[in-house]
Amino acid sequence: MRRRKFLLSVGAVGSMGVTGRRIAHPERTLNVKLWFSDRAAAYSGLWSRVEGYLRRAFEDAHGDAVVEYGGTVSVTSERAYDLVVEGEWPRRLVEGAAGVGPVDPCDDVNLLVTDEPMTEWPTGAGIPHVAAVGGAAELAGLPPVGETEPVVSRTWGTYALQVLLHECGHTIGLDHDHGSMRTVADGLVVSPMVSGYPWETESVKSEHFDYDASVCGCRYVEPEGRDPRLLLQFDDCEAERIRDYRGGVTPW
Ligand SMILES: [Zn+2]
Repeated sequence: MRRRKFLLSVGAVGSMGVTGRRIAHPERTLNVKLWFSDRAAAYSGLWSRVEGYLRRAFEDAHGDAVVEYGGTVSVTSERAYDLVVEGEWPRRLVEGAAGVGPVDPCDDVNLLVTDEPMTEWPTGAGIPHVAAVGGAAELAGLPPVGETEPVVSRTWGTYALQVLLHECGHTIGLDHDHGSMRTVADGLVVSPMVSGYPWETESVKSEHFDYDASVCGCRYVEPEGRDPRLLLQFDDCEAERIRDYRGGVTPW
């Protein structure tokens, strides 16, 4: 069940991410595993789309990330948030680890993608080791990762992908104050852990996004009419924590 691998760092070669960041070889493999609900799995090409973007994001941040597909899961609802907070998806992982059922969890990121429209709020949830997001239709409609710059305009597809990265971040200990905001011409570039929060209502922000700055000192500003520009990779502050993630006790 456990896939944790400790790799020798001696002789390992760092890689250069798109941001120009040189990545020291991490001490452990980071495992990222995805499942689709039955309805999500019906979108052809969904795995190849999502896999490409996940690989780009996690390999740039970590240098030794393994992204794999777990299969399809029959769930009682497409409500991604409910599947996490009401316990169905975590329970399936625990049962699978115990040999009951087909779900074989990994040590780090265990993400379920469902066929819930991104117009539904909340769009997903992430807790240690476990996350679920909607947006299968929007994700399946994305262009291939090779045709997509790391910073893009917000569409339903790019928004779904950034939320997916956001919830993955929560599973390995990242929070909303690990992200970044950067103003450009008429836009505000937000990293995955910030995502859509700057454009949310004051009540949502006061509950979930009550920060003046990130833990790395990036000032969090108001959009003031700027359009969202989405970073589809992890920014430096997020990547540093992903690289330094040491695992933790899994619930299984
Ligand atoms: Zn969040």
